[in-house]
Amino acid sequence: MQPLLDGYRRFRREVFPQKRDRFHLLAELQKPDVLFITCADSRVVPDLILQTEPGDLFLCRTVGNIVPPHGQLPGGVSSTVEYAVEVLHVHHIIVCGHSDCGAMKAVMDRPDLTRLPLTAKWLGFAEPAWRHLHPGVDRSDARALHTALIHANVMAQVENLKTHPEVARGIAQGSLEVHGWYYDILSGAIEAYDEDRRQFLPLDSSSE
Ligand SMILES: [Zn+2]
Repeated sequence: MQPLLDGYRRFRREVFPQKRDRFHLLAELQKPDVLFITCADSRVVPDLILQTEPGDLFLCRTVGNIVPPHGQLPGGVSSTVEYAVEVLHVHHIIVCGHSDCGAMKAVMDRPDLTRLPLTAKWLGFAEPAWRHLHPGVDRSDARALHTALIHANVMAQVENLKTHPEVARGIAQGSLEVHGWYYDILSGAIEAYDEDRRQFLPLDSSSE
């Protein structure tokens, strides 16, 4: 806990005073343009990767950046999506997977999850990822399969996201765009799924 307390003191002493104006503006109003859905993994730090500031990203973090399809769970993810679209009127939703994702490793290796019954059920929402797996992947190469499954899961969760009526409506009306991203922890690089070319491309070179 000590590093957290030290960090908090540094924040109050050094960081907060520099951003006082911004926090003053944000104290009673948020107007983020983006809902960012990513894994709970501690190594994925959206504000650091994207250099965003308080108020920029409406965040939703779940194990495996999983978004259950509409109607299956009246849970935190569904209500976060609903609020972001209907109340905050975000224009973009990004589903971001990441390299070395433990959740996708479990989907791949199917370990005994008897002691984790809720996790086992939750990971069931990632099973559709297998349908999106790149046909060229070498399934005997565990590392390559893991990475391909993480990519495929992003596509599956984007599809799940589109089953939510407010998301489908926003896309149809042209007021909302949904993006699938992959973040590589080792290199810090992001890839974005290009629907036209049906592949993940470096974010810098994608058309978005
Ligand atoms: Zn993960």
